[in-house]
Amino acid sequence: MTTTGLALDSPNLHDDRASPEQELDTTPAPRHAASLGWLVYLVLGAAAITTYYFLPRAGVGQAVLLTVLNATAAGLAYRGASKTHGRARVVWASLAISMTFATLANGPYYGVPLITGHPTPFPYPGDILFLATYPCYMIALGALAGQRRRNDRRGDALDSMILVIAGGSLMWEFVIAPVVHASGLPILAHVVSLAYPTMDLIVFAMLIRLVVAVSWRSGSMRLLLGSFVFLLVSDTLYATQLAAGTYQFGGPTDALWMASYLFIGMAALHPSAREFTRAGTPSGHRLSKGKLAFLGGSLLTGPVLLANRPHELFVIACASGVSFLLVMARVTGLNRQLVLASVEIESRASTDSLTGLANRAVFHGQLAAVLAQPSRRGLTQAVLFVDLDDFKDVNDTLGHAAGDSVLRAVADRLHQAVRPGDLIARLGGDEFALLLDAVPDLGTAQLVAERVVHVLAAPVDINGSVVHVGASVGLALRHDGSDPDKLMREADVAMYTAKGNGKNRVACYDSAVDTAVGAQHELKADLLLACGRDEFVLDYQPLYDLETGGMVGVEALVRWQHPVRGLLPPYDFIGLAEESGAIVDIGAWVLETACRQVHTWQRLHALPQFDLCVNISMRQLERSDFADQVKDVLLRTEFDPACLVLEITESVLADPRSESAARLTTLRRLGIRVAIDDFGTGYSSIEYLRRLPVDILKIDRSFVSAEHPGPHDEALLDAIVGLGQRLGLDVIPEGIEEADQLIRVQDLGCRTGQGFLLSRPVSPAAIEMLLGQTSTVPSPRRPGRHRDTQAA
Ligand code: C2E
Ligand code: MG
Ligand code: MG
Repeated sequence: MTTTGLALDSPNLHDDRASPEQELDTTPAPRHAASLGWLVYLVLGAAAITTYYFLPRAGVGQAVLLTVLNATAAGLAYRGASKTHGRARVVWASLAISMTFATLANGPYYGVPLITGHPTPFPYPGDILFLATYPCYMIALGALAGQRRRNDRRGDALDSMILVIAGGSLMWEFVIAPVVHASGLPILAHVVSLAYPTMDLIVFAMLIRLVVAVSWRSGSMRLLLGSFVFLLVSDTLYATQLAAGTYQFGGPTDALWMASYLFIGMAALHPSAREFTRAGTPSGHRLSKGKLAFLGGSLLTGPVLLANRPHELFVIACASGVSFLLVMARVTGLNRQLVLASVEIESRASTDSLTGLANRAVFHGQLAAVLAQPSRRGLTQAVLFVDLDDFKDVNDTLGHAAGDSVLRAVADRLHQAVRPGDLIARLGGDEFALLLDAVPDLGTAQLVAERVVHVLAAPVDINGSVVHVGASVGLALRHDGSDPDKLMREADVAMYTAKGNGKNRVACYDSAVDTAVGAQHELKADLLLACGRDEFVLDYQPLYDLETGGMVGVEALVRWQHPVRGLLPPYDFIGLAEESGAIVDIGAWVLETACRQVHTWQRLHALPQFDLCVNISMRQLERSDFADQVKDVLLRTEFDPACLVLEITESVLADPRSESAARLTTLRRLGIRVAIDDFGTGYSSIEYLRRLPVDILKIDRSFVSAEHPGPHDEALLDAIVGLGQRLGLDVIPEGIEEADQLIRVQDLGCRTGQGFLLSRPVSPAAIEMLLGQTSTVPSPRRPGRHRDTQAA
């Protein structure tokens, strides 16, 4: 028997999709014809059986009706076999063969009396064919039940055995025993009459196994099971009537056999025969109410038998004892399943399924329990909050499966970093927490935390890809008034400090930092409202021509007039605005306001070449509509693109092939210039500079106004200026604070410069004043100082 194709026992049975080989037929049959066929067959069959009952016994009419019904059942089963595959085909083919045998046996069975005028003798050669139908039934039942998972088998086997023992004892008592004890039967008749109930007993056992093990749904299967029930009932009646000498040829018992054939034909015609093989689901160790009732009822067979045959006490007691032991085994099995299930449920509720570590709830609970106890002398507790650095990149680049592998590897490594008694939990995502239950002091806890950072820093091999996952670890030590939430929050704050300090490191909780972090949160929230409230203002820092001393442009620098905190410099909020995305709106406002303002100055003071430098954040450049936004602003404010310089930092353009770089190229085509701000602090490389769409280098002030410039700094400044010039870029030194610095950059050939020495960032009114006082424009090599009352 093939083991493919019959899906009754498939673990994926809950999935209603049938595999191609499980399909009975791939050609769509007309729905109506298919759904009506079995009913028509039912009506015709029922009419045939009723007619059979009223026809003269053993006459031609009965012979024809029974044989026709039997033959059509065989034909329909063959049809089923021809349209199925795998085990379904085995079911239908074996039923077709059994129906053929029955038809061939029934013909002579009815023919003999018609020809001879005497009843068919018992046994007669056709009994071989009748008996041969049983192995076919068994094959069909076996294929229907299929194979089940090991787990399901034990409970089902016990249930089946209990029911078979009960049914078997009844059969023995009422069917087999009378035949065994019947006297006067010839030996062959004795053997054959015993063979039938024995076969029936096996079919009964297999039927029970099927019913117990498979909770079927399909109508076709139900009809088949009905057919087997008719077969067993009619066989039992036949055997008892034969033993009692009351069997009537062509009587009601024969009509019941016809019903059995009818049901096989109906099953083959039933529309659900198409899904026949995927109709059942294994019942496993579940005990339905019906099953329970049958199992309970089976225990009553002992008393029933005892009442019928009190002298067979020993045999009955043995059967009852075996049944009892089987029921006990079943109950014990169920109990074990329950215990296992509850352990499983408990463990699922307390562990993280991916890593097997404790989950957040367990960590919190254990931390609470530990904190509820007074600290042991000389020992305290610490919480480590571990957050992987840039874990998102792993997920994004290598996929979630790789991300999961990394998390599992992290869990393993955390075990290496702590003592066995310390609790490790995964709080969710890439966050882990450790509870160090007994540490003498902060220093020791810090050592453990360092160890965690160290073990997590080693690369992880994921299917041949080497992944680096550093971690930032926050450490909080128990103190007076610690509660679980507070301690975890403190460790969390410390972790953010570690991230802020450059990741892949440990930071200890510091209440001062905590207050600052709280303030940052507040500021972030305020920032989102600030744009709508018009709370930003612009200062402008002049840029000077270092040869002529003329002011050649300004850099717009934003400030935030905070309602409570006063005027805030950009360093206090630009980072937050970038984090929250508010920088996009702020940047748009700066660009438009500055263009409008500078355009006014250009008109008023007749300065068509006066430049405006505007700082652009990476978040702005990342937007696909950035170039369009800039164009719109230029149109609205009538600003000349040739006077606009967009300042970006090096990190923004780490990848010259990025879309951000492409946007800058688009803008440069309009005549806008691009400057690299704070040059020298990021990715500077010659190759990088050559490929970037830039026009100007603004040299970071650390190269210009180093507090104690050494020979290297000077050489570096020389090199940077020389490099920029050789690449044909304008080089603008920032942060010129001292006269000698000015002279130095002048000597290096820088044409334009910016710095406090020349002018601090000032208000628009102050710029206007400066533009009006042409006489105060700093002269070359002896620049004047311009201060504004608002300047920082
Ligand atoms: P930045 O673009 O490099 O601007 C120059 C900064 O250096 C300004 O600081 C300016 O006051 C300061 N500075 C100029 N000369 C000297 C000097 O001689 N000595 C010293 N110590 N500092 C000098 P500010 O105004 O605080 O701006 C800081 C940074 O904030 C800017 O650096 C820029 O990166 C950012 N920023 C300012 N406004 C905006 C804006 O509208 N959008 C964006 N995205 N960033 C802005
Ligand atoms: Mg700038
Ligand atoms: Mg700068």
